[in-house]
Amino acid sequence: MLTNHHTHSYYSDGNSHPEEYIRQAISLGFDLLGFTEHSPLPFDNNFSFKEEKKEEYLSLFAALKARYKGQIELVLGMEMDYIPGIMEDFESLTTGFGLDYSIGSVHLVRNSGKEDLWFIDGPLALTYDSGLKEIFGGDIRKAVAAYYRQVNDMLETQRFDIIGHIDKIKMHNRRRYFTGDEAWYRDLVSGTLQLIKEKGVIVEVNTRGIYKKRSDTTYPGPGILKQIMLLNIPVMINSDAHHPPEVDGAFDQALSLVKEAGIRELVRFSNHQWESYPC
Ligand SMILES: [Zn+2]
Ligand SMILES: [Zn+2]
Repeated sequence: MLTNHHTHSYYSDGNSHPEEYIRQAISLGFDLLGFTEHSPLPFDNNFSFKEEKKEEYLSLFAALKARYKGQIELVLGMEMDYIPGIMEDFESLTTGFGLDYSIGSVHLVRNSGKEDLWFIDGPLALTYDSGLKEIFGGDIRKAVAAYYRQVNDMLETQRFDIIGHIDKIKMHNRRRYFTGDEAWYRDLVSGTLQLIKEKGVIVEVNTRGIYKKRSDTTYPGPGILKQIMLLNIPVMINSDAHHPPEVDGAFDQALSLVKEAGIRELVRFSNHQWESYPC
């Protein structure tokens, strides 16, 4: 069983037409492919879905679903960007787009009382470093705590199915500011995992850092995967593809890590519901 519930086409910051990803997924033997453009945001940017494309996008998706019926199951999701005070409520987006499911992610971190946002994603470590310095006075513990606090707020206040790249905060860190083994860091992660368990949210094992060579492991990595197994939190493997060849990017590695952590089942959204299958 091969599934990928996290894909960006050129309707957000991916580079190709949705059909290109579908053809690629079919040729790789995928059973299910989910599209998750970045949710619309009320400010100018080059990554999120543009509200005026909604009708076009939804009718294209319906047509593709019909065209590829019997070859691959297509599902429609969205990667919701959680920025308190700025973004639209997840549930209203889910209803408005008639989504099958949603991913909740934090890419921009807010320091309470400050206007500027810390961009933890993107290709440049320089952006991460300067945000850390300017918004958090260079205090990495404060900055990382703000990230996990925002993830926790998202879990407490929004309705969504999957948590996106849970520890992406480590990407540009590259063990320069923290290793991930510190007690303070592990406590932050444990707190978030408890909340995930409580809310019944799925954790994706996101492979993008590996094939983009920005991380030596998945988001989350082996240590957190072990905790996820112990807490019996549902898991899926996603590539967060932005180009068609990335549809199965580093899937083999992720599957090995999942199995090494003792996880025996993955979940997928099929026939309008969540179901698990052995991996
Ligand atoms: Zn993301
Ligand atoms: Zn994504």
